Amino acid sequence: MSLSEVTARMAKAADQAGRSMDDLSLIAVSKVQPNERVASVLDEGHRIFGENKVQEAAAKWPMFRETYENIELHLIGPLQTNKARQAMHLAQAIHTVDRLKLATTIARLAQELGSCPDLFVQVNTGEEPQKSGILPTEADEFIAEVRELDLPLVGLMCIPPVDEEPSLHFALLAKIAARNGLQGLSMGMSGDFERAIALGATHIRVGSAIFGERDYG
Ligand SMILES: *Cc1c(COP(=O)(O)O)cnc(C)c1O
Repeated sequence: MSLSEVTARMAKAADQAGRSMDDLSLIAVSKVQPNERVASVLDEGHRIFGENKVQEAAAKWPMFRETYENIELHLIGPLQTNKARQAMHLAQAIHTVDRLKLATTIARLAQELGSCPDLFVQVNTGEEPQKSGILPTEADEFIAEVRELDLPLVGLMCIPPVDEEPSLHFALLAKIAARNGLQGLSMGMSGDFERAIALGATHIRVGSAIFGERDYG
């Protein structure tokens, strides 16, 4: 697949859901991909990218920013508190706020830096022990706590369990967002972004369908 194919499929899914493409952001997830592949997607004019490790993002994006303007970087992987400062310097959005310690650290740094990336709270919709994210039953309280810190909370994010129908998880995330008055929904990956769009996704995170399979070798 390719960027243009993913964009065409997005447009079709948006159309079928009666939604506008203007309300959808395609985050091209460039983790682990060789720089040539990332550069070619930049050359096609795409500017919104996602990385899941701060260190990898730091090794790649300041360099690309020397050549390409208006890059919007989204951090979509688990964030350690001691990397929050670096993450806030690099990224325009952080999708993985999932505990109070991280939220208070971000709030303190936001005061100091005078700016803060857009934030999403990650919800562990599948209640998987190995996965990060706040549990669905604790989400409302956590969202309220983040808001009390006066942080720019824009939405929720989830990664459904691999072996379950993702639509149930997308619907649950949308429900939690709606009852908390949050507009942003970061959900949907290469295998399921059309279903996510049908259920209200505002940010889809697509890697392999744009860049090809990741080679971890
Ligand atoms: C890697 C990753 C993606 C992209 O996965 P693909 O299946 O390659 O589209 C999306 N979201 C998160 C959090 C990821 O870590």
